[in-house]
Amino acid sequence: MEQSNKELLLKGLVSLEIEFPEEKAEKLALYGDILMETNGKFNLLGKVTENDIVVKHILDSLSGWKYVKDAKCFIDIGTGAGFPGLPLAVCLPDVKATLADATEKKIEFIKGVCGRLGLENVNPIAGRAEELAHGKMRESFDICVSRAVAGLNKLSEYCLPFVKCGGMLVAYKGPLVYDEVKEAEHAFGMLGARLEGISIVNVPFLEGERYVAKIKKQKPTNPIYPRKNAQIVKKPL
Ligand code: SAH
Repeated sequence: MEQSNKELLLKGLVSLEIEFPEEKAEKLALYGDILMETNGKFNLLGKVTENDIVVKHILDSLSGWKYVKDAKCFIDIGTGAGFPGLPLAVCLPDVKATLADATEKKIEFIKGVCGRLGLENVNPIAGRAEELAHGKMRESFDICVSRAVAGLNKLSEYCLPFVKCGGMLVAYKGPLVYDEVKEAEHAFGMLGARLEGISIVNVPFLEGERYVAKIKKQKPTNPIYPRKNAQIVKKPL
């Protein structure tokens, strides 16, 4: 990674008040290099520059780290090339991270990254949320994070079944978050959860506003959820 982007990354970590920023910036820069190298071979992220990877992907992923730091474990649903889960796992080495995606190839990529970065707290899993959520991971995570996967009404059905009672879904969102929350209020209730709040998050060096919607799990989710994907998409809760 170019020196200027490395410096930007380090400054970003410092600005986010992340501990031991030098060693983490080092690992995240290597992740950035692997992303750039792989993106050339198969398209993981679309057209991106190194600067985009640092700001729009890595620092954006870390903007919500304070909502994850006290968890024992979290799951990232639809992690893709590893966002937001992989940067969070690098910066929170004592938290167990499960990164799930429906696409096998993306999970293979993440396994390779974990090997090269020496990450021991990451469990990459290939599978669809609405299937995995009926297995042994159901209601087993303190936190679920997700970014750019679906509107909040559908996302809630994918994600909330994984969350323990008392735990939270932390959904990374843009400025449409307020509309999405209104539209999803009914889904939260049906899934045993309620809106805890919306927070504006700071993404160093990014123009434009970023938010997290925090949805708190209050009681177990009815075992009929999540439904099959066709139903989730056709008739969101
Ligand atoms: N979160 C990443 C990727 C977003 S793209 C980021 O912010 O960059 C959406 C990803 O979600 C894709 O990789 C897709 O395979 C995955 N996905 C979509 N629906 C899913 C589902 N129901 N279960 C698991 N993964 C899903």
